[in-house]
Amino acid sequence: MDPLTDTIIALKKQRNAAILAHNYCLPEVQDIADHIGDSLGLSVIASRSDADIIVFCGVTFMAESAKLLNRKKKVLMPEPAATCPMASMCSAEQISDAKSCYRDACVVGYVNTTASAKAEMDICCTSSNAVSIVSSMKEKEIIFVPDINLGTYVASKVPSKNVILWNGYCPVHQSITVQNITELKKKHPKATVIAHPECRKEVLDISDEIGSTEKMLEYVRSSGGKEFIVATEIGMLHRLRKECPGKEFYFIDHALCSVMKMTTLSSVLRALETMGTEVVLDDGTMERAEGPLRKMIELK
Ligand code: SF4
Repeated sequence: MDPLTDTIIALKKQRNAAILAHNYCLPEVQDIADHIGDSLGLSVIASRSDADIIVFCGVTFMAESAKLLNRKKKVLMPEPAATCPMASMCSAEQISDAKSCYRDACVVGYVNTTASAKAEMDICCTSSNAVSIVSSMKEKEIIFVPDINLGTYVASKVPSKNVILWNGYCPVHQSITVQNITELKKKHPKATVIAHPECRKEVLDISDEIGSTEKMLEYVRSSGGKEFIVATEIGMLHRLRKECPGKEFYFIDHALCSVMKMTTLSSVLRALETMGTEVVLDDGTMERAEGPLRKMIELK
């Protein structure tokens, strides 16, 4: 065990803090977390937490969401420079411009967006619930931001809606190609291919199962299969190995998100010691961005 672990656990208790870590965090960070999950799971946990302090191990949009759902609590971000490149592909101003072009449309926005972008949305979604959220909207026209791959997947599942796509993407999932999958398939012909819906359409088309990281876990747990090619960020390997022993997983080596790896045990300890960096959002943004997130959780 890392020598920092005991200190973090003791300090966490003393501060009545809860540590939340995304499935893509470093293994040692996942191991000291109270809760590990995908964006949806962690948002729900954040909304119900009775801890005084939430330490969010992940990227800034996740910590902002935790703050929006826990306005009175202190939310700490051990690595405040860890910003998701996809979230930077969609600003509040751009959404506002799109709304003025498509006046009858509503905006469904992936949680991988900044709080100010959320303030312009009608409702948020995650990769777990995007299809059901889009289906539930009364509007026929949906501006779906920012992930073009998730948006394309949703549009194929909900043909009754006219989904207006955005040009954002996750560079990590976008980098996974059909060739990467077919090479792994040649080496492991019996493996089932499971892919995250942030992957390109052509990768999804050759996958056996498509789902969020939590859905992947559920699928592997209940599957009789022993080998899986997993098209998502490599951090997921730790949880899959831990929770599904006796099964083999093959990842695409380059599918690594550097910003998700910024949070280390040292930075978690520093956050608990210094009580920084606190997530601070202005009241106006919080007022407008909380609603779309809460609506999503209510519809879950
Ligand atoms: S894996 Fe992709 S979507 Fe997730 S934080 Fe990294 S860049 Fe953003």
